[in-house]
Amino acid sequence: MVIRMRHTRSHTANRRSHHALTAPNLSVCKNCEALHRPHHMCLNCGFYKGRVVIDLAKRKADRDARIKAKQEARRGVAEETTTSAAETTAK
Ligand SMILES: [Zn+2]
Repeated sequence: MVIRMRHTRSHTANRRSHHALTAPNLSVCKNCEALHRPHHMCLNCGFYKGRVVIDLAKRKADRDARIKAKQEARRGVAEETTTSAAETTAK
């Protein structure tokens, strides 16, 4: 309330005339033809300037393996607890 009373509408509009957002410029990856930021590695395939910078496929495989191992470990713990609980109830 106070701020609106301090400025005219044209003053507010003049200030807001610089608030427009511009769309980011994107380049096309030469390897996989996905869009990526210019002067940055392609986030789809990990290529920059025609060579692999980060092996994203390997990273994904490693990550999936890690997640799978974690899930299997958790499942094993859950089975142990259920079997031990069943044993205790049986006794
Ligand atoms: Zn790419």
